[in-house]
Amino acid sequence: AKKLGRNRICFYDPVMQENIEQKTTMEHELRIALSQEELTLFYQPQVNLEGEIIGVEALVRWNHPQKGLVPPNAFIPLAEETGLIIPVGSWVLHQACEQLSLWTKMYPERHLHVSINVSVKQFQEASFYDTVAEVIAKSGVETGRVKLELTESLIVENIRETIVKIESLRSLGIGFSLDDFGTGYSSLSYLKRLPLDELKIDQSFVRDIGNDNNDAMIVKTIIEMARNFDLDVIAEGVEDQEQFKFLEENGCTLFQGYLFGKPMPAKEIERLFLDA
Ligand code: C2E
Ligand code: CA
Ligand code: CA
Ligand code: CA
Repeated sequence: AKKLGRNRICFYDPVMQENIEQKTTMEHELRIALSQEELTLFYQPQVNLEGEIIGVEALVRWNHPQKGLVPPNAFIPLAEETGLIIPVGSWVLHQACEQLSLWTKMYPERHLHVSINVSVKQFQEASFYDTVAEVIAKSGVETGRVKLELTESLIVENIRETIVKIESLRSLGIGFSLDDFGTGYSSLSYLKRLPLDELKIDQSFVRDIGNDNNDAMIVKTIIEMARNFDLDVIAEGVEDQEQFKFLEENGCTLFQGYLFGKPMPAKEIERLFLDA
């Protein structure tokens, strides 16, 4: 241990040091990725009771020159930590809206929407409203076709500011979904105050519907709650017919998961559109 000034003692930890170096390298690479267009969006179908694709969720990947396709969980947390989530998030918004605009022209008979993940830091940025409004206007898509997915952690932090911000974006026509619902800490009274359009049942509950009575009960309760609050409800992580049947029987009307399609590049989504 090295003494730093009066009371501060600094321990040299080689593992921590290595982590810091890895992070610094990654941060640097992520900045390059943004300018070199190494980020890419995959799209996962969202379907209704008839199995029709009614929209897609945009999920970011990093096409790293050495590492290949890097999943979001490997770089979004770092992007949040470093503030890079602001340009990354803007890029995702822009890219997803441009893609939807293209699809709206290619398939005018389909009424597709796009769901876009928004991180807390991004949502809390003072310029978030302007960025969203600008990006959507530029792409030419109807605001009503864009849905933003927020997580519960946002609500806990500053409910009043959150409500005002959601309301101002909703008045433009933009929809709001509460992602990973059931995993956070938000109480029912918060939920009541939030101007939302949709609840998204977290995949951890869906996964064990068939073999965990508690999870089955939670799922039923969420669907019932959504109905009482007059919200749409979508289940994520639907992988098999048994889960789908349970959800359907209990009043869920929107679904997303490997059973209907994995996240895939835009071109593959287009192939699905031709089939169905
Ligand atoms: P999420 O928003 O909860 O997205 C759902 C995740 O579950 C996705 O992982 C998706 O590929 C995966 N998934 C979908 N269907 C199934 C299924 O049937 N079974 C299983 N086991 N998994 C399924 P992915 O694409 O790796 O994304 C992970 C997380 O990264 C997302 O979780 C989201 O929190 C974050 N993320 C992704 N794209 C963005 C983005 O553009 N911005 C921000 N801020 N976060 C993003
Ligand atoms: Ca999501
Ligand atoms: Ca989710
Ligand atoms: Ca999740």
